[in-house]
Amino acid sequence: MNKIIEVKDLTKHFKVTSKMGAKINFVKAVNGISFDVSEGETLGLVGESGCGKSTTGRLILRLIKPTSGDIILEGKNINQISDKELRKIRKDIQVVFQNPYSALDPKMTIADILSEPLSIHKVVYKYHYEQEVKRLLHLVGLSEKDMKKFPHEFSGGQRQRIGIARAIATKPKFIICDEPVSALDVSVQSQILNLLTDLQSELKVSYLFIAHGLNVIRHMSNKVGVMYLGKIVEIGAVEELYNNPQHPYTKILLASAPIADPFSVRDRHFVKGEVPSPISIPLGCSFHPRCEFAMDICKIKIPFLKNIDPNHKVACHLSDYQERFGGE
Ligand code: SF4
Repeated sequence: MNKIIEVKDLTKHFKVTSKMGAKINFVKAVNGISFDVSEGETLGLVGESGCGKSTTGRLILRLIKPTSGDIILEGKNINQISDKELRKIRKDIQVVFQNPYSALDPKMTIADILSEPLSIHKVVYKYHYEQEVKRLLHLVGLSEKDMKKFPHEFSGGQRQRIGIARAIATKPKFIICDEPVSALDVSVQSQILNLLTDLQSELKVSYLFIAHGLNVIRHMSNKVGVMYLGKIVEIGAVEELYNNPQHPYTKILLASAPIADPFSVRDRHFVKGEVPSPISIPLGCSFHPRCEFAMDICKIKIPFLKNIDPNHKVACHLSDYQERFGGE
């Protein structure tokens, strides 16, 4: 499959100064992450709040500039192109935001909201706007009768459908779905997830699907990256990662995810303390202060992502140790 997007060693450090302006610190939000997404594929990014997954999405959208690293869309490095070229490329990368209430301008009709990207990116001729808006509404399960309405006349789920219609209006190759169902009622979450899946089959679009719910990520993704303090600590094909997690943090996330069967027995894993501040990330493995398996080496040496099989990488010294000494 063709790679639509490649992210290489992407880093974003935000400068922060103390109240008196005397001290400068850096919030290390994203710390050298790499991944790729192929045509029609979904990469799920999962991790606790503040792990850097939404910042990664904003970096790819170029809403913020990276500190370093490359974002390559179909062979073009979007960190090294002019603003004019960037405007052209924006049509190929779209976003579905978390909050469907704040994502739509309350003063615009649905027809205006959906015509705006058609006009900015010259997707169709002006006299075809109405026809195209009707087509988009139909694709997301709404009616052409909704064109003249305003966002406040819709439920949260319907507003998210409008947000999705706006995202697909430019015929993008890649859509960043940033927690697209976490603000919705549970009863409508699955409808929106199914809509995204159906649109992907129909339009062959690729997704970066950001969420903190492991069940949602499993349902939506072909492969999954687990983030902790701005790094991907484990990445792999979805079933491989869920059935054979290797990183202690992934095991904890999986062990704490809700399951439907209250009598099922699963491995217990423990995590100590709170997530450290991204201003002062621990040396060595950033997870070591909380890891029940931490060894001396973990406090001094950063573990890098290594293949443990062709579709599965993990950044943990434990995997080196097991490889060398055959431990469990
Ligand atoms: Fe735990 Fe060490 Fe692996 Fe980090 S490198 S997750 S501290 S065992």
